[in-house]
Amino acid sequence: MNAISIDLEDWFCAYNLRIDIKDWAQCELRVEENTNRILKILDNHKVKATFFVLGWIAERVPELVREIEKQGHEIATHGYSHRLITNMSPEEFEDDIQKSLDSINACVSSPVLGYRAPSFTITKKTLWAIDILKKHGIKYDSSIFPVGFHPDYGIADSPLDIHEFMGLIEVPLSVAEIMGKRIPCSGGGYFRLFPYNITKQLMKKCNEQGRPVIFYFHPWEIDTGQPRIDMPVLKRFRHYNNLGKTEKRLDKLLNDFEFVPIKKILGL
Ligand SMILES: [Zn+2]
Repeated sequence: MNAISIDLEDWFCAYNLRIDIKDWAQCELRVEENTNRILKILDNHKVKATFFVLGWIAERVPELVREIEKQGHEIATHGYSHRLITNMSPEEFEDDIQKSLDSINACVSSPVLGYRAPSFTITKKTLWAIDILKKHGIKYDSSIFPVGFHPDYGIADSPLDIHEFMGLIEVPLSVAEIMGKRIPCSGGGYFRLFPYNITKQLMKKCNEQGRPVIFYFHPWEIDTGQPRIDMPVLKRFRHYNNLGKTEKRLDKLLNDFEFVPIKKILGL
């Protein structure tokens, strides 16, 4: 069994775009339409997923979050403001997590068990965040990317398996190990960048190595009509590459692998 997760945020929340939260209300809201398309694809395959909901989105479109829960998916938190933990003080982080839980709990009935940091920013510098998550009733974290090459995230020597970490269950983003190298096969930009068959082989490898794949993507990653923001060439490529292929690839992925919500893998 693998898990599929969606970080529920709109196009303007993405860190790469550097759009200030004060300006979000003026941006075109596209998350509902994109999420409804995702819900349809999941339903076609009878798959339940985990949605890491941004608190700001739960406040703006509570009916969407309620509908996701009604369709049997797991609701977890992605924080409130999408500020990276690496850019916050412990006090600011605690406010952010509290605010996110307040706005999500106002929409849903099941307790929120899981957390995913914006841009996977539980790193060696932000391990203090774990105690704050525990204090607020979070049972598992899915934020550690066990790689060492990315400037914003990653813990290079972190275990690849689901493991207990500082009293929380850690559900790392998936990598396949090939000749000692850790190659991400967990979704997002990697899913859009690699040809589908490469992802498929890496995921199989991960399963053969005895680990479930923890897969993630965002509603804006199936949205070819989103407003385009100017940014440096390489970033622009990574951010907008193959948006038009994601939906078809998801369909293949859901045919080729079994997925359940994260809490089911953990037996919670
Ligand atoms: Zn995010």
